Amino acid sequence: MNKLIFTTSWDDGYPLDKKLLSFLIKYNIKGTFYIPLQNKERQVMKRNYIKKIYSLGMEIGSHTLTHPILTKIDENQAQHELIESKKKLEEIIKKPVISFCYPKGKANPNLLNLVKKAGYKLARSTVLFHTNLKFDPFYAYYNSFFQTFLFVLFETTN
Ligand SMILES: [Zn+2]
Repeated sequence: MNKLIFTTSWDDGYPLDKKLLSFLIKYNIKGTFYIPLQNKERQVMKRNYIKKIYSLGMEIGSHTLTHPILTKIDENQAQHELIESKKKLEEIIKKPVISFCYPKGKANPNLLNLVKKAGYKLARSTVLFHTNLKFDPFYAYYNSFFQTFLFVLFETTN
């Protein structure tokens, strides 16, 4: 029998997501919160709140350290953003962080490899919601009309 898994995901760790959290808990809905540790453009929730979200049964995913557009920075910086954000979130929640979300949904094939090398098991785009029950874990949909990735969801096979 196939099992349908329903989850939601929320990006940026904005402090007002506290309201959202109470809604998810009220209706018993799981969510992944993709949180950057800093963001020049907007506030991010404090570390003790990240811990609290996790303790309430939600998943914490990485959304980089500083929320740069990864396709616009060099490979070493991108690698640093991927590895250090994972490490810092793991220090906060004391559990492995396996999911990653690309800031502004921007990714390319090289970034997919960097995400995999950094130890994530899953990554997704933020550009548009698009999902497919059957997908190649390392295949990203590319929509030539929008000139951007619509779907960057993959899972390692190990
Ligand atoms: Zn974001």
